[in-house]
Amino acid sequence: MVIELTPEDVRAARALVQWSQDDLAKAAGVGVSTIADFEKAARKPIANNLDAIRRAFENVHIVFTPTGPAIYGAVMLYLMTEDDGAAMVIRYRQEQAAAVQEIIGTFGTIDGEQIQLTMDQLVTSEMRVALDDLVARYGAAVPQLNRLKQKIGKVPDGKHFLLLPGEPASTKDRLAQETYLHALNHPEAAPAKGASDDLFGVLLDLYDMKNPRTDRKTVIGAGKEPRTCRFCHRTASETSFKKVAHVIPTALGNDHLKSAEECDECNEYFGQETEPSLIGMLDVQRVFLGTQGRGENNGRPKLKFGGDTLLHDGQKVVLQAHAVSKTDDDTFEVSLGRGARLVPMSVYRALVKIVVSALDEEHLPDLTKTIEWVRYALHADQPLPKVVMATIYLPPNPSAQITVYTRRKPHLRLPHVIGEFRLGCYVFVFAVPFSAQDQWNLVGFFDDADFKDTFRHYMAVAQWTEWDLGGKKPMALSPRLRFVKR
Ligand SMILES: [Zn+2]
Repeated sequence: MVIELTPEDVRAARALVQWSQDDLAKAAGVGVSTIADFEKAARKPIANNLDAIRRAFENVHIVFTPTGPAIYGAVMLYLMTEDDGAAMVIRYRQEQAAAVQEIIGTFGTIDGEQIQLTMDQLVTSEMRVALDDLVARYGAAVPQLNRLKQKIGKVPDGKHFLLLPGEPASTKDRLAQETYLHALNHPEAAPAKGASDDLFGVLLDLYDMKNPRTDRKTVIGAGKEPRTCRFCHRTASETSFKKVAHVIPTALGNDHLKSAEECDECNEYFGQETEPSLIGMLDVQRVFLGTQGRGENNGRPKLKFGGDTLLHDGQKVVLQAHAVSKTDDDTFEVSLGRGARLVPMSVYRALVKIVVSALDEEHLPDLTKTIEWVRYALHADQPLPKVVMATIYLPPNPSAQITVYTRRKPHLRLPHVIGEFRLGCYVFVFAVPFSAQDQWNLVGFFDDADFKDTFRHYMAVAQWTEWDLGGKKPMALSPRLRFVKR
């Protein structure tokens, strides 16, 4: 609840922090006369200035309550469990300081005014009893305590969680802490420590890595007002947001990862113009993986390649084809007819659309031209870097996955944004073209010495195949499958 500031509030708040009208005017960035007139009740400041005054006080821990301004303190905590993380700001008034100190003290030691938090916390039945007791006594005054209890409630007895003074500042810190927590909880599976450091050390100095979850409901951009489409930049008053927009198409197994920032018109455009090409390119892979989407055949792929049929029946792949040839006793080959029509550049645009949906919004201003290409096929005459593909062993996952690497500081050769798209054992790596942060067209980025030095884990893969997805002419794949008896 936001209390409307009165002249009395402002005078009283100034007294609490011992500010003159001049001090407040400087802190809020408004004129002294604005403050003086308001306190005399001669003139009410415009809304922007009132907000600035409120923020100036909040910055020095003053909160406005129905009974007047009060001093509060704030403790910032970040709770990291093995499958979750939550930032919490516990705000409290002066009179609750002792309670908050006791709460924090449960997770560390108190020595006078000094609280020493212990980073790794072991969940025990005693801890649960202590938490229940704290919630009973202070839950009403410090509501965040209930959330803390709820999060810790999900961690089994005998397992650890981490209590950090703030959210990890970089992907590298986050990975280091996650690795540490994992090692605490799974001492039997001690990670090969140096190995992952070697592979990711340089990379995570230069790039942040984002890998949104597909195994539970994840909505990117949820709750932001006004709701705005990332692709056409219109707000909810100018366009509609009735349909559910998936970050990765459902035909590629994604049910949970959604975007709140894709309007119905853009959603329909992608569904008709670009996503069918990406799905079509992955037709054979989808059948062999048994990727489950929606619709007929229980959501499993059931495809026509000319007069041939290829489907997954939930248990196995069923193939009916005309051109089957036996090359020797153990091998036969099948040449399928023509598959779905696809446009290579639309495949690339569909991949980049997934990245744009998944990115943190701070990167969007640099990607204006990229978004125009994804949404309106502009700049399509400029050269595009190749997309590379490899087949590697990965733990089975029902949904396709996206990992986005965003460069943390300027660099002459390394691309600003790299996408890694995976479906089953198939991995596609691509540069996101047209970023204002890149000084060149990125053609050949994958063979660049800087890239090889940075993305070392890709260089450990035996073979990458280059795919030219720059073509604008429709085409159809006629896959040739080779079966070897084992
Ligand atoms: Zn839109």
